[in-house]
This record gives sequence, C-alpha cells and structure tokens, in this order.
Amino acid sequence: MPKNSFFTINYIRQKFKDFYMQNYVSKIIDVSKREFGIGDFGKKISSRHLFFKNLDDFNKYLVIKTPFFVSYSVGYYKFPDRRPMENKQWYGADIVYEFDSDDFDLPCHDKHNVWVCQNPSCQKEGFGNLERCPYCNFQTKIIQWTCDVCLNKAKEETIRLIEFLENDFNLDSSTFIISFSGSKGYHLRITDKSIISLSKSSRLELMNYILGNDLNIEKLGFVLENKTFKTPKIDSNGWSKKILEKLVEIISFYDVDLFSKNFNISKRKANIIFKNKEVILKKLYHNNILWNDFTDANIFWKDVINFCVMCIRLKIDPQSSSDIYKIMRVPDTIHGGSGFLSSYIKSVDDLKNFDAFSDPIILGDSFKKIKLNHITPKFRLKDQFYGPFEKNQIIEVKEYVAIFLILKGVANFE
Ligand SMILES: [Zn+2]
Ligand SMILES: [Zn+2]
Repeated sequence: MPKNSFFTINYIRQKFKDFYMQNYVSKIIDVSKREFGIGDFGKKISSRHLFFKNLDDFNKYLVIKTPFFVSYSVGYYKFPDRRPMENKQWYGADIVYEFDSDDFDLPCHDKHNVWVCQNPSCQKEGFGNLERCPYCNFQTKIIQWTCDVCLNKAKEETIRLIEFLENDFNLDSSTFIISFSGSKGYHLRITDKSIISLSKSSRLELMNYILGNDLNIEKLGFVLENKTFKTPKIDSNGWSKKILEKLVEIISFYDVDLFSKNFNISKRKANIIFKNKEVILKKLYHNNILWNDFTDANIFWKDVINFCVMCIRLKIDPQSSSDIYKIMRVPDTIHGGSGFLSSYIKSVDDLKNFDAFSDPIILGDSFKKIKLNHITPKFRLKDQFYGPFEKNQIIEVKEYVAIFLILKGVANFE
C-alpha cells in the first residue's frame, strides 16, 4: 500500500458520500426481504447479512457509512439478517445473469490487458495475457482492461438473452432489471413472480435450455430421412426458429471461402452450394427440406445445423445463475473498483444506446495530479482518449480519470 492510501481512501469515500447525498437509490424490489453485503477499498465483499427495513434506511446507510461496493441478495428471506443461512428462511429468489467482457475470447484482450511480473527483482510488465514473464519466467498477474469492442460484445449478449427470455419463456419484461455492472459488463435480474419459487434444479433446467445443452435436433424438426434433411416449418418457435433464422443467414450471406472454411468442404463443393443459394432458400421455405443435390449433403447440413446451435447458444455460467443465495451489485450504486455508477438501464432501447465509458461517470472534472504505478493501454472516458501511459509517469487529469485509475490500482495521488 502506498503511503497516501489512508488519505486517498477517505478522499474518494467523501466523493461517493457527496453523490449519495444528492441521489436516492431506489431500484431494489422488496428491500426488507433481502440480505445486503458491502465491500471496502480493494475488497468487493467485506461483510454480509445486513438488513434494511426500507429504502430510506438503506439510503441513510449509504450516506453515513458509504461502502465502496454494495450488493443485495437474489434471494428473498423472512429474516434476512439471521445467520447461518438456514435461519434466514429462504422463500424464493430472482434469477440473475452476468455478462462480463472477459468471458468472451476476443483479440482485443491481448491489446489492452497488462501482465505484471510478480518476481520482486524483475517487475517487468507489458501488454497481453502472458502467464509467465518472458524475461525471467516467473508468474505474472494480469490487470484486466475493457474497451468498446468487448463491452459491446457483453451488451449484445445481454440483448440476445433478453429476447430469448421474452420470446421463449413468456416472461414479463417489465420485471427485468437491467444494469451496468459498473466495470466489466452487464447484469440482468428477472423478478417475474412466476420464477421466484423455482428450485435450484428447475433453474438449471432453464439454463440448459438457454445454453442449448442436450438439444435433440430431431425433436426440433430437423429429421434426416433417406439422406434428406426435413426442416421445421418457417413459422416455428423456440430453438427451431432460431436455428432456421441462422440457417437462412448463413445461406444468404456466406461466400465460397466462408463455406469451405467453416464446414470443412472443398472449394468446388462450396461453389456448388454458393451458386444454388436461391434454390436452397426456395426449398427451405416452400418444401421444408434442405437441398441435397451434391455428394454428402446430409453430412454438410448436419455440420451447418450444429454450427448454428453453437452460434446461438449464450455463454452464461449456469452455476452462478442458478445460485439462489448469491448477492449482486445494487443498481445505481457506485462500483468501488472504477468510481463508475452501476447504472440502472430502463429498457432494451436504452441499453442499445448505453455508453459504458461515459454514461456511468459521476465524479467531477477538476484536475488532479497522479503517478502511474503500472503501464496503461490507450483508453476512452467520455469523448476523450487517454494514454497509453508509462509506469512512473506523472499526469494531470480530470478527477474522474484520476479516481478511475487509482481504484483500478494502477495509480496514486501525487
Ligand atoms: Zn520477470
Ligand atoms: Zn476489449
């Protein structure tokens, strides 16, 4: 810990306090039935089992104690502050989904993440996700960064999941609470009364459906008969519909290269398929079959259908989403690892327009001098780009940039 850390923590806490004095946090359903957890500088959860009678009490607490992180349970309890857990008397839970930018395997991670050698006599660092220091082969620590590309990916997946839940489960979307995590991604909390009392195993079943686990493509209407694939009707629902839509997209937009690369077929065969797009689509729409006037057509189509399933399935951690005791960040509270608001987002349209590097910024813009203790990639806050910065570089930046870098652990007040 740097020398000025006590000053720094209090300074930042005061900034958070000022925010909570001006802003009332209200996006919590059934406050008095929830368990709350809080965290402090550098620690997301330092204590749990807190309870608030109502929103007023909760907001007073934020102003007086001002924790760096605030979470509340997905579960509903008769006695939220009792412990151990069984004494709380659980009687239901929301379902939550988290999409973090680092869950996706994207090339941008190698550009903006930073490895730091943990060998005290080396301490070199660089960009990328190297597990071992290239200079001394010692273990490294990774500092994760985000960018528009990976946060947009998390956003797209959140939107896809919302559509999944609305269309396939008939859930009431007005009970969906969408929020920015305050750092790496998005959260979705379903509070629809019909799911609250589901057991853990029913929740896992629901997850398996979304993940497309154990899908039986025959049951979905893709039936192989005499080497011809029959397809479900074009106005089908659920997974059948999703696979059909993806099939149409692939047939319509893939070129010879994409066909041969993705489905391991010769250029000659890919060319035949490409040239017969119109025929394929016509047969699919009118005869509900996959055109098979080429060798091993059934093998090709089976690959395509499996590929469609792979594209459609959502990357969600099934264990985390079926955990009925977990706690999740309270929307519209501050994330103490970035200084950003974990903004409540009203609708899917607002989510589409949400700018994660601008909209959640709540701190001031007076200038502060800080010293970097790690390298940083180039990054954007509001409409300005910063960096890349060198280790030990001293910079003067707006307060929200300074506090963002300090909370991220890569800078200190100078
Ligand atoms: Zn090293
Ligand atoms: Zn990225």
